[in-house]
Amino acid sequence: LIRFENVTKRFGENTVLDDLCFSVRAGQHVTLIGPSGSGKTTILRLLMTLEKPDAGTIRVNGGKLHPADEKHRREVRKKIGMVFQHFNLFPHMSVLRNITEAPIRVLGKSREEAEARGRELLDMVGLADKYEARPAQLSGGQQQRVAIARALAMEPKVLLLDEVTSALDPELVAGVLDLLREIARTTDITMICVTHEMNFARDISDEVLMFDGGRVIESGSPEKIFSDPEHERTREFLGAVL
Ligand code: ATP
Repeated sequence: LIRFENVTKRFGENTVLDDLCFSVRAGQHVTLIGPSGSGKTTILRLLMTLEKPDAGTIRVNGGKLHPADEKHRREVRKKIGMVFQHFNLFPHMSVLRNITEAPIRVLGKSREEAEARGRELLDMVGLADKYEARPAQLSGGQQQRVAIARALAMEPKVLLLDEVTSALDPELVAGVLDLLREIARTTDITMICVTHEMNFARDISDEVLMFDGGRVIESGSPEKIFSDPEHERTREFLGAVL
C-alpha cells in the first residue's frame, strides 16, 4: 500500500532520510522506533504531503506522491489521516464541529449525515456527553480522543499517529492507548505509529521498524525486535527506553 523507494530528505546540511526504502502492506500496523531526530516524524509528514522528498519516490496504492500539486495533495489527505502530538483541534469550534467540518467540506457529506457519524464516533471514544464542549474545556486525553475521532470521520485508509501520547499526563495515556488498540482490533485501517510507548508498540504492531542515520537498520515482529534484536544500535536504544 505504501512504499518508500530510495527516499532522501535534507534540511539544509542535515540529511534526515538517506536513501530510505521500506514498505507497508494494506491493513498492517507498523511502529517506527528510533532515537530522537532519526526522521520518524519526517516520514509521516512526507506521507501527508506536508514535505517533499529531495530524491526518491513515495508510492501510495501504486501511485506516486506529487506534493507540489495541490489537487493531488487534497486527494492524498482524503485517504490518509494523521493524529499529532499536540492534538491541533480547532479551538473556536465545538467538539462535534471539529469532527464534522472536514467530512462536510472535503467529502461533501450533508450536515445531518456528518453529525450522525460524528456522534457515533464521539460515543465510541467515550465522549458522548461532550458534543457541545469546546476543546479547552476538555482534558488532554479527551482532546486527543476527539482528534482520533476527527481523523476517523474522514474514513481514512491509513492512519498516521505521531507520538500521540507524549504530551499527555501519565494517568491519561492508558485511555488513549486502549482506544487505539480497539481501533487496531476492530477496523482494517492501515496504521503507522511513531511512539515511545514500547508496550503499546508490542501489543499493536505486526512489524517494528528501527531507524537510525536516516535508514531502517532493523525490522521484524515486535517479539523479535524487543526480545532478540540483532543490531547493536537497536540494543542500545531499547536499553535506554525500556
Ligand atoms: P523525535 O522522536 O524527536 O520526534 P524524529 O525521529 O521524529 O524525532 P524528525 O522530527 O523527523 O525526527 O526530525 C529529524 C531531523 O530533522 C531533526 O534533526 C530535526 O531537527 C530536523 N527537521 C525536521 N523538520 C525540520 C524543518 N522543517 N526544518 C529544519 N529541520 C527540520
